[in-house]
Amino acid sequence: MAGTANTLFLRLEGPLQAWGDTSKFVIRRTMEAPTKSGILGLICAAMGVRRLDARQHLKDLNKLAMGVRIDRPGARWWDYHTVGAGYGLLKAEGGIKITGTTKTIETLVSRREYLCDASFLVALRGQSETIQHVKTALEDPKWPPFLGRKSCVPSVPIMAGQGNFPGLKEALQYIPWQPRLVEVDGVSPPGELPCLIEWQAPSDDAIAPSDAEVWYDVPISFDPSVHWPRLIVRTSLKVHVDSPTQQHTPPAPRPQAAYEDSVYKQRQAERWQHDQHLCVFCKAPLTPHTRTVQHITYRRAGGGETMDDLRSLCRLCHDAVTMIEYGLGMGLDRINPEEPRWRDEIIKKRKEIIDFRSLETRRRRLSPEEVE
Ligand SMILES: [Zn+2]
Repeated sequence: MAGTANTLFLRLEGPLQAWGDTSKFVIRRTMEAPTKSGILGLICAAMGVRRLDARQHLKDLNKLAMGVRIDRPGARWWDYHTVGAGYGLLKAEGGIKITGTTKTIETLVSRREYLCDASFLVALRGQSETIQHVKTALEDPKWPPFLGRKSCVPSVPIMAGQGNFPGLKEALQYIPWQPRLVEVDGVSPPGELPCLIEWQAPSDDAIAPSDAEVWYDVPISFDPSVHWPRLIVRTSLKVHVDSPTQQHTPPAPRPQAAYEDSVYKQRQAERWQHDQHLCVFCKAPLTPHTRTVQHITYRRAGGGETMDDLRSLCRLCHDAVTMIEYGLGMGLDRINPEEPRWRDEIIKKRKEIIDFRSLETRRRRLSPEEVE
């Protein structure tokens, strides 16, 4: 059964996609949906076919009819892109281009357009032998697949199933639309989804519908770039809505103290009093500039702290303890600086901070002399 499928589904989803028209100039735009050239390029990469050798393979691949469902159109975005910065661009007559005004190596600024956060369902329909060949390649690609440009990485597996369908329309209606978790509440699922379906003449004397569009994206060869036209019919299809794949995970508890809370300020003052205005770690006297308290737990943070949740520390010891906590990625329960097991680590971190500070001071003192 699996070997006789006439249709293959591809899911194209990622932070960025770029389905270029054939422009090779400074401004490179993207089409609103994957092009046949882009999809067959992706398949050739998965098969490990080089651009120069693609022509032979494209003969069979071009026979596959392609339909695209726009599940999420995405937003258009321009990227600032430079070519030749630092190493230079070659002139036609040889040598490297130099900018007239600055006499430095010329850098070309090229504008590239992307579709952000788009999602497409592509159906390829044709001979089952070709379909199986493509499926095998996409399941175990020789070179990594990309969404139109090499920098555009897919965020979900590209292979999205196969089946037998009388036409591309039926195929594109078969796979349900999948909401994201954030869309479950509040966002109503689309009633119909826009689709771009390749028009195939049912007979030799059939006439294409008058509203069909011409896309020059049938790749005959990638190197040199040769593209032929095909006809595309725009339609919209009603689809089922699936349940979201993502599971709801509650956010991790984020410890946060309400430093302006008056109850908390009261507790802080009580703790300094209790510790006789000394750092519990290094025993340095606390001044209004150096005194801090350490939360040994954030379980009651935000104004509900008890005296026992806090310890008096000088700023240096507090910085050292905080650095250790960040390094360990601790949760609500934190370091109690009075526990002997933390002693060596806190001493080490204090020394690192002092060494770093003196290095910074020396650097600042040295720099004006070095300039002279
Ligand atoms: Zn201290």
